Amino acid sequence: MADVGCQTCVELLGEFVERRLPRDDEAAVQAHVDGCKACAELLRDYQELPALLRRATEEDFPLDAELRLRRMVARLRRRR
Ligand SMILES: [Zn+2]
Repeated sequence: MADVGCQTCVELLGEFVERRLPRDDEAAVQAHVDGCKACAELLRDYQELPALLRRATEEDFPLDAELRLRRMVARLRRRR
């Protein structure tokens, strides 16, 4: 399968993390992430996000979560 590219990869990342993608798409995203450092970092942030958000509902929004979210948004913006 052709490389999905960063744009599509980012769009699918949320579903990829939740394992809701069809197998073909999941494989395509995985292949892209394996070869793209920027998307690999983004994937890591996504994977940590649920834990960060869970903590955020239990206590005050943790500062490191806020910083990470800001970084994620900055990265997505730069990509356009
Ligand atoms: Zn990429």
